[in-house]
This record gives sequence, structure tokens and C-alpha cells, in this order.
Amino acid sequence: MSGLCELCPRRCAADRFRPGGRPGFCGAGDCPRVFRWGPHFGEEPPITGERGSGCVFFSRCTMKCLYCQNSPWSWRGEGEDVSVARLADIMRSLAVEDRVENWNLVSPTPYLPFIREAARILAHEGVRLPFVWNSSGYERVETLEEYADLCDCALFDLRYSRDETALAASAAPGYVAAARAAVKWAWERGVRGTGNGERGTGNRLRGDGRETLDDRREDSSRLASDASRPSPNTQKPNTHPPKKPNTQTPPNPYTQTLPNPNTQTLPPLVVRILVLPGHADEAIENLAWLATEVSNEVPVSVMAQYTPAYRALETPPWNRPVTKEEYEEVAEAASDFGFENGWTQGYEASDPKLALLGENMPPAHGTVK
Ligand code: SF4
Repeated sequence: MSGLCELCPRRCAADRFRPGGRPGFCGAGDCPRVFRWGPHFGEEPPITGERGSGCVFFSRCTMKCLYCQNSPWSWRGEGEDVSVARLADIMRSLAVEDRVENWNLVSPTPYLPFIREAARILAHEGVRLPFVWNSSGYERVETLEEYADLCDCALFDLRYSRDETALAASAAPGYVAAARAAVKWAWERGVRGTGNGERGTGNRLRGDGRETLDDRREDSSRLASDASRPSPNTQKPNTHPPKKPNTQTPPNPYTQTLPNPNTQTLPPLVVRILVLPGHADEAIENLAWLATEVSNEVPVSVMAQYTPAYRALETPPWNRPVTKEEYEEVAEAASDFGFENGWTQGYEASDPKLALLGENMPPAHGTVK
């Protein structure tokens, strides 16, 4: 790997890919750094599936959100430097031992070239799962195009509708245009059918018993417990043979023993609308933009789980949870704009006691909770 890094919209041009090179603004250097990995049962239903989503939390981040719940590794860079082979080991263990539904790459952008190399090693072995690209939405379309093979489902935030807020709260210049372009790219790709997901899977979900936005609004207390409690673990006993040493020489036992990856259950795009204290109007503006400039068929995930953390604790209005009124205003707007394919959490998910706080999560392998 060589050249100056321009993977994210910041385009800081860090000479970070050679040993001893200068880390970028995000802090990423010449190898991937991973904080934690494991099955996550609390993602949106088609992403969680039955066996959980295989999260890999990458250290460092292209944004600097003052309220970040994952500050130990996003801001402070805690985690393990890994080689591409080690990253492949981590992803293999998620697929073969944890038997997760997909690889959920959390904030992967600075490490995309390494992730692709790891994925190629695994593909050569016959180990394949769909990829969820899970990010703040602060992405470059050029990068998305180049690494589209790592994006079967774009799980993108639309966090702000005003650049001044993005700058003040996340130090992310040009966030609004970048995130909106990323969302549009993912949707149009899904419509074209060039991703592994397919347009209209949200409609299909409505028919297969999963929760819809409207269903969820009708029973907010049940929803709240959905949001705070992992889905039941329906993981079957692992009957796979013991892990063999990494080899690139086929035939490989994993080819025969993995469940078939079923990318069709994944929508090509889920847009997360995290309601932020004092900024519900921006969430509504983003929903309006999404409905008019993209489509109200886009699956949306309206989230109440904002929890004051890290530097937000001393910075109003970020130092408080969202109010019930703020959250309900946004959930109602989603309904008013005609969004039907998606999920809400219920206001109870804003309870700090239920928050998934990265600050409390130990490193290395384990279920995400
Ligand atoms: S991913 Fe990191 S190093 Fe690369 S351009 Fe963005 S901030 Fe700079």
C-alpha cells in the first residue's frame, strides 16, 4: 500500500501507508487497529438476523464527535494493531465460530485497503459473508465506488443538516453534502441492483413478520425493550470442524461447512437518524431531504439512544438525553413523510441506563452488549 490517504472527505493526504509514515487526522497509521469484535444482536432486524451481526469495531475515526460513546477507541485509539492475516483470522472466527449473519465493519473507512486484502484471503478459502459498511455517513463517493465490494448494506447515519453543527459537534467539514451524497450513492446502487442487496427488500420485510416503522409506533413499550435487550440467541450449536491453520491452498474445509450467505435479506441501505438534543429540527430536515431527493422507500432507523458521553458531559445542549417531545417529533415526521420501511426504538431507548456505552465494553472478542 502506498500513496497519500484521501479515503474520507477530509482528504488530509497523510503519508500513512508506509512503515513510519505520518498518521492521518483520524490517527490511523500503516496497519488496521481493532478494538473489539463479536456478534451483535441489537442492530436493525435484517442486519441482526437470527445469529447476530459480526461487528468489527475499528479504532480511530474520521469524525471527532464530542458526544462519542466509543471514545476509548475512536478518540484515544485503544485497540490492537493487526496484520492483514490477523484481521482475516478475526473475520474468519466471526464467520466460522460465531456463525454471524454478516461482517459489520464499524467505522472502516481508514482501513479499507487492508480489509479488502483480508476479504480476499477469506474469499480464496471460500469464507464469504455479506458486508455491512457501518459509518457516520461521512464518506466520499469515489471511495465508496472503489470499495463497493465491501458494501452489501450501507448502514449510514444522516446526523446533521447544517454544516456548522457538524463542525462544532464532530469537527467534520462538509458533512452534509458528503453524507447525503453517500446515501444517494447507496440507494441508487441498490435501485440499479449493482449491490448485493436489492431494492424493495423493505417491502418484503413487511411481509415476513419483522417490525415496521408503523408497527413499532403502535407499541412503543415493546419497542423499548427490543432496543435495550439483545435479540434471543438462536445460534445453533457449532458443529463445524476445528479451525485449521490458515492456508491459501484449496480445497478448504470452510467452503463446505459455512451457511450460505444470504445477501437478499439485507437492504442495500439503512439510514440511521439519531435524534440529537437541541437538534431535532436537523433530523426532520434530513428526513424531508431523504423523502424528496431520494425516496421515502429508503429504510430508516429512528434512534432515541443518544447518551451524553465524553466531552458532551460539559457541553450544553449535548450534556442531556433527548426529550420525549424531541424524539416523538422526529418519529412523527418520519411517518408524515411516508416512510414505512424502517424501525424506531421508542423513547425509552434514551434511558442512559440502557445505553450501549463503548466506554464500558472490554477489548478483544465478545458479544456486543
Ligand atoms: S481516512 Fe484518516 S488519514 Fe485518510 S483522509 Fe481521512 S482522516 Fe486522513
